[in-house]
Amino acid sequence: LLTDDPDLLTGEPGGATADTGPAPVVAVVGRPNVGKSTLVNRLIGRRQAVVEDVPGVTRDRVPYDANWNGRRFTVVDTGGWEPDAKDRARAIADQAEIAVQTADVVVFVVDVTVGATDVDEAAVKMLRRSAKPVILVANKADNQTLEIEATSLWSMGLGEPYPISALHGRGSGDLLDAVLDAMPPAPPIIDGGPRGPRRVALVGRPNVGKSSLLNKLSKEERAVVDSVAGTTVDPVDSLVEMGGEVWQFVDTAGLRKRVKTASGTEYYASLRTAGAVEAAEVAVVLLDSAEPISEQDQRVLTSVVEAGRALVIAFNKWDLVDADRRYYLDKEIDRELRRLPWAIRVNISAKTGRAVDKLAPALHRALDSWEQRVSTGALNQWLTALTQATPHPVRGGRAPRLLFATQAGVAPPRFVLFTTGPFDAGYIRFIERKLREEFGYEGSPIDISVRPRK
Ligand code: GDP
Ligand code: GDP
Repeated sequence: LLTDDPDLLTGEPGGATADTGPAPVVAVVGRPNVGKSTLVNRLIGRRQAVVEDVPGVTRDRVPYDANWNGRRFTVVDTGGWEPDAKDRARAIADQAEIAVQTADVVVFVVDVTVGATDVDEAAVKMLRRSAKPVILVANKADNQTLEIEATSLWSMGLGEPYPISALHGRGSGDLLDAVLDAMPPAPPIIDGGPRGPRRVALVGRPNVGKSSLLNKLSKEERAVVDSVAGTTVDPVDSLVEMGGEVWQFVDTAGLRKRVKTASGTEYYASLRTAGAVEAAEVAVVLLDSAEPISEQDQRVLTSVVEAGRALVIAFNKWDLVDADRRYYLDKEIDRELRRLPWAIRVNISAKTGRAVDKLAPALHRALDSWEQRVSTGALNQWLTALTQATPHPVRGGRAPRLLFATQAGVAPPRFVLFTTGPFDAGYIRFIERKLREEFGYEGSPIDISVRPRK
């Protein structure tokens, strides 16, 4: 063991993929006034949804973040569903059907004090067509008599009715258990235990200074560990101490070896880049500040973005940059890196050590963005306002609309927009730009996909 601080080496190598699965969506549907909003309040555990004590009061579909037994999910409240509805009521019924289509689990609410009505029976048909798992809730079972009454709802053919009182909370724990059981399997949960060092790929075309930088970091900070017996660190990786922390520079074997082959270097260099980026959480792409930004540099940058890794661009050999070069470099950056306005940039010199201490904070900033999560509520509130202020252009006589959105994952942040029709690439880019303005995501690629309603 070559490091002098064993505390820095505890823990398993970091898990990049904590909680990346999409949050399952639970849609709450039923006739007007059966207690859907009241139930949504129960499910999300706070008084957030608006309950209006007026029969048939309508509202747009609103998603809320919820959590039960450590499982995250999104609850979508829907206006009352009615068959053969007209106008405004039709629109609400349509919204409820869309909610069903986009849901993983449907909670179907019936008022037990009224029993199953014709409208409820019609809803059952719609739910059957959807082929979604449905949980039947017998709401307003405020007392034991009404709870027993709920058993009559077996006749609806939706399986066991769950008697609850959304108003008083009775039975809501069992209902939540059933909702969780009906969800698709949870993504593996990575516990909050000690994580291993962050994994960094140090990449760039030949001669940009990768070996020199690795050497500099190792010398400055003393603690390079080539291969540490008894740990799971891959022998081709290097452990480097920066800013009081150990970082795992992946696949650096070729950088540490002083021997370099001249032939076929570009091909092997690109293979190495892809492998290192894949194994890392964040990449430092080295560019040579003294040289124009080349196509090969662009390919390295693209491989990082396409792999969905966090990105820091280090302009190396800054010691060679004078006022003249600076002028041209600024122009090159404007022109060549316009597609990556979100990348974090640092100007360093592996030779002199200039600003090498800026690397660790830059890597942290990029990783924080990479793992950032926006709540479904905040996301939808903001996106609804944005898409109302600047709607999608009309296509074939109609403008496709946003129904709702959710952040489906982190590392990198992934967003799914449920829409009434396909969105233009330009409009998605507009949304990405605004999303970055609003929520940051500096140093991380983000992925936005659109799911038009079928
Ligand atoms: P929605 O139109 O289906 O969303 O129904 P609301 O949640 O707005 O509820 C309609 C009415 O039923 C309101 O006056 C609620 O207070 C009432 N309500 C909701 N749940 C219960 C319940 O479990 N028991 C009783 N007694 N009333 C309830
Ligand atoms: P690699 O192929 O990316 O690993 O690049 P190397 O680390 O082998 O560096 C290529 C050449 O650039 C060597 O001659 C280094 O001494 C030189 N070099 C690396 N970093 C700097 C720097 O910051 N300033 C200057 N002036 N030269 C550097």
